[in-house]
This record gives sequence, C-alpha cells and structure tokens, in this order.
Amino acid sequence: MRKNGRRALVIGAGIGGAAAGIALRRAGFETVVFERAPSLGAAQVGGCYVLWYAGVLSLGQLGLGDAAAKIGHPVERFEMCDARGRVLNGLDVGKRGQALGAMPIAVRRTELIAALHDELGAGSLRLGSTLTRVEQDGRGVTAVFADGSTERGDLMVGADGLKSVVRSGLHPKAAPRHPGYAHWFGIADGDGGAPDGVFRILHGKGARFAFFHLGGGKVCWWFVRNAAQGQDGDVLGDPAAITRFVNGWHPTAAALVEATPAGGIRRRDTYDQAPRRRWGADRVTMLGDAAHAMTFNLGQGAGASLTDAVVLGRQLGAGGGLLASLRGYERIRRARTLLLVWASRQVGDSAAWDSRIGAAANATILRTVGALVTPSLLELDTRRHPALAAS
Ligand SMILES: Cc1cc2nc3c(=O)[nH]c(=O)nc-3n(C[C@H](O)[C@H](O)[C@H](O)COP(=O)(O)OP(=O)(O)OC[C@H]3O[C@@H](n4cnc5c(N)ncnc54)[C@H](O)[C@@H]3O)c2cc1C
Repeated sequence: MRKNGRRALVIGAGIGGAAAGIALRRAGFETVVFERAPSLGAAQVGGCYVLWYAGVLSLGQLGLGDAAAKIGHPVERFEMCDARGRVLNGLDVGKRGQALGAMPIAVRRTELIAALHDELGAGSLRLGSTLTRVEQDGRGVTAVFADGSTERGDLMVGADGLKSVVRSGLHPKAAPRHPGYAHWFGIADGDGGAPDGVFRILHGKGARFAFFHLGGGKVCWWFVRNAAQGQDGDVLGDPAAITRFVNGWHPTAAALVEATPAGGIRRRDTYDQAPRRRWGADRVTMLGDAAHAMTFNLGQGAGASLTDAVVLGRQLGAGGGLLASLRGYERIRRARTLLLVWASRQVGDSAAWDSRIGAAANATILRTVGALVTPSLLELDTRRHPALAAS
C-alpha cells in the first residue's frame, strides 16, 4: 500500500471505527484508532447480529471475507411470524445472498470486533484514550484526551458511537431519540426447537421475540417490548418476566429463555438519530452510530458502519482533495442512511402497537406491505453501490 504522508485519527474502535482504521490505512493514510476502553476484552463486548448483504460485501472489501466465513453462521431464510409461529412473510435470503455474492451471516459482536481488531493490528490501536475535545485549524486537527494528552492529524473520523463526543462538538443540540421500547437478549445453550439457518421473528401485541442459530449448538435470541428508557448499557434481564410475557406464544420462545445460562440475559435500550444535512465540518467527519444511529429493527446498523468505512476509504484513496473527499463521502452516505434510520423507525413503530387492533394491523402490514418492501429494504445499502459494486 502506498503511503500518502498524511495522518488520520479515528475515534472509537467499535465496528465502525476499526473498519475505518483498516479502510484508511488501505487508502494510504498513517492511521491511529483511539478507544476509551482500557483493554481489547473490554472493547469487544456485546450480543449478536445478523449481518445482511451490504455488511458482508463490506467485510470482503476490507479484506475480511475469509474471517467473515469463519466467524459467521449462514442465514438461509428470514421469517416474520405471528406469536404462534404462523408465517406472515418469509424470504429465501440465502438464495438472494448467493446471487449478490454475500451470504447473510449470524455473528457474535465480540468475534466480529476481534476479527476487525486483528486485521487493524495492535500497533494502530491506542486503548484507554478517551477523547474529550476536538480543535481544528487550517493545517490540521487536534484530539484532546481525558489525560490531557493531544494528538495531531490531517483528518479525524468520529466513530465514537451513539453518545459521540465528536458529534456533540459539531452539533451540540442534537440528541438521540428513545423509541419507547427496550430489547433483552441472550444466547441459549440448545436450540429449543429453532430451525437452523432461519432468522425468525414472532410478533405479539406490542412485543417481538426473535431467534437465529450461531453455530455450535448456540442460538441467539432477543425480546422487545414497550418500555420506558431505563438504565444505560447492559442491565441484567429477568428470565421469569420474559417467559411470563411469552406464555401462549410459540413454545420455542420460552424454551430459549430457559436454555440461557443464569445471568446471561441483558437489557439494552435502543435509540436513533437521523444524519444531519451538514454531517461533518472541515477536516472532521463521522461514521456509524455517531453519524446515523438507527434502531435495530432492520438489523442494518453494524452493516451500515462497515459500508461507511469502505466508502470513506474509496473517496479518500481516489486522490482528490482531502476536504472534497470527506464531503463527497458524506453526500454518498447521507441519503441511504437517512432512509435506513427512517425505515427502521417505521418498522419498530408499527410493531409497538399493543392493542388488539394495532397488533392485527401490524400483522396485515407485515403480510402485505412488508412482503413487498422488505427485500428492497434489506438490500437498500447494496444496490448500485459505487464502492460495493467494484469488488
Ligand atoms: C439491541 C441492538 C441490536 C442490534 N442488532 C443489529 C443487527 O442485527 N445487525 C446490525 O447490522 N446492527 C445491529 N445493531 C446496530 C449495531 O450494534 C451498531 O449500529 C454498531 O455497533 C455501530 O457501530 P459503531 O462503531 O458506530 O459504534 P459502537 O459499536 O458504539 O462503537 C463506538 C466505540 O467508540 C468508543 N468510544 C465512545 N466514546 C469514546 C470517546 N470519547 N473516546 C474514545 N472512544 C470512545 C466506544 O467505547 C466504542 O468502542 C444493533 C444495535 C442494538 C442496540
């Protein structure tokens, strides 16, 4: 890789930041990724995801195609069902993935981040570095850290997640939105009757229970119900409360909760935040949740962060001016991510209707509009994408 003599500072070593570090290095930048977590183990936390087509294509573009095949478990079918398991809308996503050259995969977040960190290399990662302030002038950008140290670069990428310090410096008034529901998840030892290769979501009244195999006999599940904003971060979930709630649903739901090791259920609030018209400024840009946090309803957040990194690397590696490349990247990503944030919100809002009529209306939407638009929504970030098409 040819070096361009320029230095990039990436803030945050989550999925988006680690991917940005790899992409910018490939684009010729000397790149350092700063992460507030004190150790790799502490930085590699979380649950599990289904990574759709664009996310898988992006991993390939970052040189992680083999790693994705190793850590991912293929998802062949996606089914939206009623609470008893009757299919309202089913898609052969494996077939579509084969046609696109990107099989959807189920992955543990810890393994995905570890693979990205391995590719990035420890030499490019500074742990225990908490950004507190950003300063820029005509010649560069300075990151100021909590211990008083500073780092200077030609550009900065804020990949510091939902509560981004980079974003609050650029847009002090922007605040994330809580959609009125929360998310509990666990990894069951045993399948509880869940079919391998199928990502299934059961829809009840204002609540959902989803599950998919991770390989090795483990099944990841999540449960969503209407709830006010709770504590930040992971909070232990009560299995008895969940099994009570899903009493009368398809038996796999309760079986998976019961097959989850004690203390293994976590609660997590979800938020979203639409991308701004003016996204970055001068030498600073953002990606991932810092730029466009979305609710999990379409399962696109991690994939969109990976695609941001690929597009940013392409723009900066194309040899145009630095500032024009940053604004070009933002222009390409804004419309797509705005649509993903909006569509994820709509899906979550109708799934949250908790009256009998509301739940019936949601089932009708899933059977009709859902059947028509879900394939396009899952592929939205893949279609005619300039960076992903050129693999
Ligand atoms: C419940 C739930 C389920 C989800 N399911 C899916 C799914 O199925 N598929 C999918 O594609 N996506 C899913 N997502 C979305 C996905 O988790 C996020 O979109 C993705 O993790 C965003 O990555 P990121 O790198 O932008 O941010 P993060 O993963 O939040 O990483 C930000 C990093 O920045 C660090 N940091 C923060 N502040 C600072 C600072 N001041 N200085 C230095 N470092 C800092 C943090 O420690 C962290 O390591 C889900 C999200 C949730 C909440």
